[in-house]
Amino acid sequence: MSRVNHAQLQSSIRDILDFPTPGIVFKDISPLLGDGPLFRSVIDELAEIASNTELSKIVAIDARGFVFGAAVAYKLGLGFIPIRKKGKLPYKTVGSSYQLEYGDAAMEIHIDALNPGEATVLVDDLLATGGTSASAVNLVQKLGGSVKAALFVIELDFLHGRAKLPPDVPVHSLIRF
Ligand code: AMP
Repeated sequence: MSRVNHAQLQSSIRDILDFPTPGIVFKDISPLLGDGPLFRSVIDELAEIASNTELSKIVAIDARGFVFGAAVAYKLGLGFIPIRKKGKLPYKTVGSSYQLEYGDAAMEIHIDALNPGEATVLVDDLLATGGTSASAVNLVQKLGGSVKAALFVIELDFLHGRAKLPPDVPVHSLIRF
């Protein structure tokens, strides 16, 4: 297991101004993903945090959350549940709509993705206003499951996304801006 070098992580996140809409500073993780040892250390650290909880599945958010969430699930030998943008999942779904930093969105989960009482950890690349993650927690809870922790690579502190998550869901992020 390798620890994340935080200076290196910080310099691997590229600011793209006015993307996807004017006024947004988009945190581009492409340089991070392109650096094998750094990417591995990010997965190792997220997996270590997740492993402090008793859980059976990793839940991750479409689409960049899948990159990190699937690798953490693989590393811990856990099941993986994708939460996808509306209309993408092929089987019966449960949905939830919410506000984004740049517009509205709706997410869905397969109705049989988890059993009542199952414990999960949520993974996404970035916590901004918290609407997406709060909606993901809501979907898991609608199916009778629980979210024991929410893990992010990046957190944008100035948007106070943590406050949107239920108080019993601890939030961990590897780097905060
Ligand atoms: P939010 O619901 O506002 O917390 O937004 C979080 C979701 O939107 C995550 O899945 C991110 O991938 C994406 N996102 C929001 N804001 C940004 C940003 N400034 N840079 C990159 N991704 C973002």
